Amino acid sequence: MARITMKFGGTSVGSAEAIAQAVAIVRDFLADGDELAVVVSAMAGVTDRLLESASAAASGDKPGYSAINQMLRKRHQAVIDALVAADDSRAAIEAEVDALLRQHLELCEAVRVLGEATPRITDALVSFGERLSSRVIAAVMQAEGLPVEQFDSNRFIVTDNQFGDADPLWDETEARIVQGLRPRLEAGVTPLITGYFGATPDGTITTLGRGGSDFIAAIIAAYLDSDELVIWTDVDGVMTTDPRLDPRARVLPYVSYQEIGELAFYGAKVLHPKTVQPIVSRDIPLRVRNTFNPSHLGTVVGAKTQPSETVIKAVTGIRDVSMLTVSGRGMLGVPGIAGRTFLASANAGASILMISQSSSEQSFCFTVVDALAQNVKAAVESELQRELQHNDIDSVEVLSDIVIITVVGSGMRGTPGVAGRVFSLLGENRINVLAIAQGSSECSISFIIEQRDLELAVTELHTLALETVENDSVNGLGSPY
Ligand code: ASP
Ligand code: MG
Repeated sequence: MARITMKFGGTSVGSAEAIAQAVAIVRDFLADGDELAVVVSAMAGVTDRLLESASAAASGDKPGYSAINQMLRKRHQAVIDALVAADDSRAAIEAEVDALLRQHLELCEAVRVLGEATPRITDALVSFGERLSSRVIAAVMQAEGLPVEQFDSNRFIVTDNQFGDADPLWDETEARIVQGLRPRLEAGVTPLITGYFGATPDGTITTLGRGGSDFIAAIIAAYLDSDELVIWTDVDGVMTTDPRLDPRARVLPYVSYQEIGELAFYGAKVLHPKTVQPIVSRDIPLRVRNTFNPSHLGTVVGAKTQPSETVIKAVTGIRDVSMLTVSGRGMLGVPGIAGRTFLASANAGASILMISQSSSEQSFCFTVVDALAQNVKAAVESELQRELQHNDIDSVEVLSDIVIITVVGSGMRGTPGVAGRVFSLLGENRINVLAIAQGSSECSISFIIEQRDLELAVTELHTLALETVENDSVNGLGSPY
């Protein structure tokens, strides 16, 4: 018997068939005597549609948001029709869905009148996806006789007021989960909780960023003192690379918390990047599993960092990024230029994916997403206006046809020669490297190459990762707890 927190992502609850699968999984775990808390996402695509309804409303497009509201009704009704028997319990869930959809329309109406969807009201609007899905799924599980009780996460997840990307206030959140949720679990109830949103201390709804249900599940796992966190998704686990780039891609039996952090940051869209934060210090293992292939054991993410013979676990490529280079002889020994550049970039709303400076100090470069590159360039140029006028800085240049490749593997810490192996492979394949950065965690190396070299680079480096999977499987890593 174990205490497990599990989260079902959008595709895992995306249709009546998917929900039936998810319910079967929950039933099996409960039948084994496990104590469960379940976190759910909105049905696949719903969050996107809700965001569209917010912008439709802001631009006065009433037919637009009404159509979305109708579509939401249809999708949830289809699940109810398929999975909840036509009796009192069906009438009850239909009434709940109806009430939520009315509120959604009312909020859209308010946005239309205001002519603006503020981040605050947008967060309230998108929270309807999880409010709807969780109630419908709870109704299905209750109809099956499972001891499920539905909860909205704003009761437990207390956050700051950074709408769209809020951070939890840890102590308050812990207190609420320990006092409000844990006793229910210990009374034999299976709490079914919405992902994605929380609320400020005064009760205003916030969201924890796209994909934030993972993060919420991890917070709940931590404060319920769970033995394991399971993230149910639509792939078998974390892969050695994107199978679209190299069909030889395989599921990794095991990755460390640190490795998954790097992978999430560098574009492997398996987990919300903050997911491991709450569970690392508690040493709660996380397992990524496939709702549609539940006999596969998935990938375990845990605290162990094991030295592998070969040290590269995975290779990722991020497209749609631009590299900005700030160069000029006058920078030599002048403190503050990099700091001001990065601050200007941040003020332009860009987070920086990678930074590199050579010790000659005559230039440094950094990478942001394509969509923000021109804004960042303008912001940096205006910040460095004086230096540009005095020719201390020659230019701020943008290069767009580039990608960031990252190779991840904590075994490279303390293992000399990994970087050498990586870059000689690139050299042998005549791939030109524009910039290099190694995180001080020594758990990944990132570099920039031209877009046209992406597939070749990934395929070549991926061969190194495939050797690691072989070794890890042989050594039994990732076997069940
Ligand atoms: N529904 C939200 C999203 O699509 C949160 C989540 O699913 O994790 O981003
Ligand atoms: Mg997700």
